[in-house]
This record gives sequence, structure tokens and C-alpha cells, in this order.
Amino acid sequence: MQHFFVKPEQITGNKIIITGEDVKHIKNVLRMKHGEEISISNGVDDNEYRAEISQIGEDEIICDLLFVKEDGVELPVMFTLFQGMPKSDKMELIIQKAVELGVARVVPVETARAVVKLDGRKAQAKTERWRKISEAAAKQSKRAFVPEVTLPMTMEEAVRMAGKLDISAIPYELAKGMDTMREFVEKVKGLANRSKDGDSLIPTAGIFIGPEGGFTEEEVTLAAETGIVPVSLGRRILRTETAGMAVLSILMYETEI
Ligand code: SAM
Repeated sequence: MQHFFVKPEQITGNKIIITGEDVKHIKNVLRMKHGEEISISNGVDDNEYRAEISQIGEDEIICDLLFVKEDGVELPVMFTLFQGMPKSDKMELIIQKAVELGVARVVPVETARAVVKLDGRKAQAKTERWRKISEAAAKQSKRAFVPEVTLPMTMEEAVRMAGKLDISAIPYELAKGMDTMREFVEKVKGLANRSKDGDSLIPTAGIFIGPEGGFTEEEVTLAAETGIVPVSLGRRILRTETAGMAVLSILMYETEI
């Protein structure tokens, strides 16, 4: 079933009004008709609104609300993936898989060894493209909101952002043994359980993944000084596009409701 995102104000009573690019997509690409069912999220609550197309207009489509699924789809922790900028279009794959695995935000990071360095205009254009990837993956996986993709940041800026989260880790291939990773996962589980018990604030956690060339020692030290824990992901070297997925899969498995 096709999934769309609307703003909360587009849901009034038992009517949902779809506007913007989705109108053309529904009419001209999907060629959907009166009576067909779609699922909708409002980007704010964790509900899925199931609706039926009732009127197809020039610039808007009016749907009749059928029912609301309140069991939610979001993880009890808001994960931010701080991804060292990879070569070629790997970032698109990384974003797509991270969104399916429940990430809440992706921050591209221009680390010292990141081969790709984007200037202003290019960074804006790339980020627009990555945001579309995030939206498409969010629709496909029926997320309650479209995970944010920020403009690229320096490692210093990313570490500062992570310093405001409840907990963060930096997988580092020179870290030894799995104890630190297991401790990190246990702490995230503890945060998730507090959230499941109805603690008001949704806990936040960050994961730093280096580019193909990895992190410099200085970058790992800078992160560690901010309380971001260096952890090992095992005795093999994972590709940059594998490492984030591996961590998010573990955290999704351990925190999913
Ligand atoms: N510099 C590394 C090397 O020796 O070839 C390659 C870096 S790896 C391709 C990219 C990133 O994935 C690393 O910076 C790290 O964040 C993560 N990573 C890969 N394998 C890892 C492992 N076994 N333990 C911890 N992190 C790992």
C-alpha cells in the first residue's frame, strides 16, 4: 500500500487533504482512483492513518479517514548516524538502509580522511538528493516521519552535536574486544526501557562511522574526550556502508518494541 506524509493540519476530522507533489504523483504516476486505499503519517505522532481516496482535484486530493493504527512504528530511541562521507553514491545506500532500520537523523561528516569534500552549492544539492532518498525509504518502510538528513558537518561540529545526546559511540577498528560495544548496547537498552515505561523525553543516541579511510587517532581522541565511547564491531574490517547498518541492526533488535 502506498504511504504518504502530510502535516497534522491536513488531517481534519475524518478528512485528510493531500497537496503538493504527492497530488501529481498519485494522479499521473500511480494513476490511483477514487476508492483506493492509502496509508498516511503526519510526521508528529506515531500513528498510521488509513484512508480512502474520495475526491481527486486539480491541486488536492481529499481522502476519507477509515481508521487509525496506533501501535506505532518508531523505535523508543532517536538514533543519529554520524556518517563519514563515503566515495561515490554509497551515501544513498547508507541513508536508505539506515531509514529502514529506524534511524531518526543522518549527519554527513567531512572527516579528515573523507575523500569527498563538497563546497556550498554542491553540498546543498547533494543534501537535497539525500533527503529525497530518506523520504522514499520512509514511505517504503512506513515510517511515522521522514528522518532528517542535515547538511554536511565537520567532525568538530558533529562531536559537539553528539555531546548533546544521551549517549554516543564511535566504532573504531583499532578498539579491542567487544566489552565496550556490549556495554554501550546495554546502556541504550536501559534508555529504551525508560522510554517504553513512558518517560516523557524520547532518549537520543549517536553512532559515528568513519569513511573508507577510517578515523584519525585525533578524531577518536576528540570524540572520546566528549564522552563518545570507542567500540569494536569485531575482528574483521567492515566497509563504511556495512558498519552503520551493522550497528543499527543490533540497536534496532535490542530496542524494538
Ligand atoms: N581504516 C580502516 C582499515 O583499516 O581499513 C577502514 C575503515 S572502515 C572501512 C570504515 C569505518 O567502519 C571505520 O572508521 C569504523 O567506524 C567502522 N568499522 C569498520 N570495521 C570496524 C570494526 N571491526 N570495529 C569498529 N569499527 C569498524
